[in-house]
Amino acid sequence: MMAFKTDIEIAREAKKLPIQEIGAKLGIGPEDLVPYGHDKAKVSADFIARQAGNKNGKLILVTAINPTPAGEGKTTTTVGLGDGLNAIGKKAAVCIREASLGPCFGMKGGAAGGGYAQVVPMEEMNLHFTGDFHAITSAHNLLSALIDNHIYWGNSLDIDIRRVVWKRVMDMNDRALRDIVTSLGGVANGFPRQAGFDITVASEVMAILCLSNDLEDLQERLGRIIVAYTRDRKPVTCKELKADGAMTVLLKDAMQPNLVQTLENNPAFVHGGPFANIAHGCNSVVATKTALKLNDYVVTEAGFGADLGAEKFMNIKCRKAGLAPAAIVIVATIRAMKMNGGVKKQDLGAENVAAVKDGCANLGRHIENIKGFGVPAVVAINHFAGDTEAEIKACKDYVASQGSEAILCKHWAEGSKGIQELATRVAQIADSGVAQFQMLYPDDMSLMKKIETIAKRIYRADERLADKKIRDQLAQWEEQGFRDLPICMAKTQYSFSTDANLRGAPTGHSVPIREVRLSAGAGFVVVVCGEIMTMPGLPRVPSSESIMLNDEGLIEGLF
Ligand code: ADP
Ligand code: MG
Repeated sequence: MMAFKTDIEIAREAKKLPIQEIGAKLGIGPEDLVPYGHDKAKVSADFIARQAGNKNGKLILVTAINPTPAGEGKTTTTVGLGDGLNAIGKKAAVCIREASLGPCFGMKGGAAGGGYAQVVPMEEMNLHFTGDFHAITSAHNLLSALIDNHIYWGNSLDIDIRRVVWKRVMDMNDRALRDIVTSLGGVANGFPRQAGFDITVASEVMAILCLSNDLEDLQERLGRIIVAYTRDRKPVTCKELKADGAMTVLLKDAMQPNLVQTLENNPAFVHGGPFANIAHGCNSVVATKTALKLNDYVVTEAGFGADLGAEKFMNIKCRKAGLAPAAIVIVATIRAMKMNGGVKKQDLGAENVAAVKDGCANLGRHIENIKGFGVPAVVAINHFAGDTEAEIKACKDYVASQGSEAILCKHWAEGSKGIQELATRVAQIADSGVAQFQMLYPDDMSLMKKIETIAKRIYRADERLADKKIRDQLAQWEEQGFRDLPICMAKTQYSFSTDANLRGAPTGHSVPIREVRLSAGAGFVVVVCGEIMTMPGLPRVPSSESIMLNDEGLIEGLF
């Protein structure tokens, strides 16, 4: 087999333009770019405010089938499609999430795309980048410190130290910090209590930054965060602790979207990175809206499969920000189809048309769901080297039989010239105005009914199971004025069901609700179904073991 270059080798060969030239393509003058080195910049809040009157471009969402260990390539396809649109003469930019350090040093897998469809500088994007996550970590932990300090100095808000719900965060996979006791060591150190750390991307501050329209909105949302409860279960907010102002100050620069470029020198906005389980899993509203004001087409990605990512993109992000996708691309791979059809990972190399056909049911379900939102769906078959003609044909035929179309894309190996057919078709669909975007449920539906609607219409479950404690909790929040919030489902990304091993298109299952959480600042109710990990651990052999500087001072081993 031909030897492929690694992502980092390809990225290193990129002929990057100075970031001012990328800004110039979008009409952003040097005075409105805040450079972070030579190839990264933030777009100033002033500039963004001045674009309010511009017409919006068309928004294109990239989502995928349920992920399998075979890999799908949503980010790779998002970046490739952005380059593809530019290559056919359209003015387009991509919007993706920033990377967390946790996965970077844990399991291999970068956040900048792959092959010849990448965002650069990928090393920096995957490491500290412009410091946004450090700012979020600091803002979050300022609030944590203020809670314990408030208790230390007399606790006038009457916080029940057993009911502090605001943890600390760090941008690292570190299972040792999941459950800890703080304030040990005597009277001078405060009141010992059970506490813990989440990874920064799971912080509500991250979700808030990504959903806020501007700094004022940001501060208001931060103020609404519920940090603890009193002994008689009244919520205590961030605003009551007077933390919202200083947190906003720490986040002032982080709120400005980051501009970088693709390997083909097209603009890429990389901003924000909320988890896709306990949060909504998309890049920031500010970045998306800015990109829409400056481009005719904006390609963006939602995390996980379409049952989680696209659903939340539409019911949370689009709802809150007043956005509407004009076309949706569902990424599928022949390998993932085969895995959905029952093939084991080690057997993926052999042609297996029957398994592709069996596995297509998963794809079909996603197509149907997307159409339910009133938006046309196109399937991008992200081509892998071993895919055979017969397998590709089987997938295309299946998609055609579902009244949609599948287009083979070779952007990973060839860059924009491998994805022009998809770019042309997506632009046509977006321009045709056929999308009639509608959300799955209205704001004023009860919280339980919203959960039921998602479980039935998206997961195709027969029932959702919630014991009295959960139903009472939801009812209480409704009384407290939170009935209008959307739902943020946290379940396995590997299946439509809550059982990770149930591949394909299962029906008749039930969705057991383990826990509900209120993210009052971000503005959604998190519904936890099954295990979710908000502080991951590292694997036995973490990828950090192979990351190092070489003799020339270049980073090796980063993907
Ligand atoms: P996602 O966004 O769906 O998590 P990514 O786009 O980040 O996936 O891709 C995950 C990994 O798979 C990357 O390392 C990328 O280089 C690799 N990859 C993507 N597409 C292909 C392809 N067509 N052939 C080989 N590797 C690919
Ligand atoms: Mg991705």
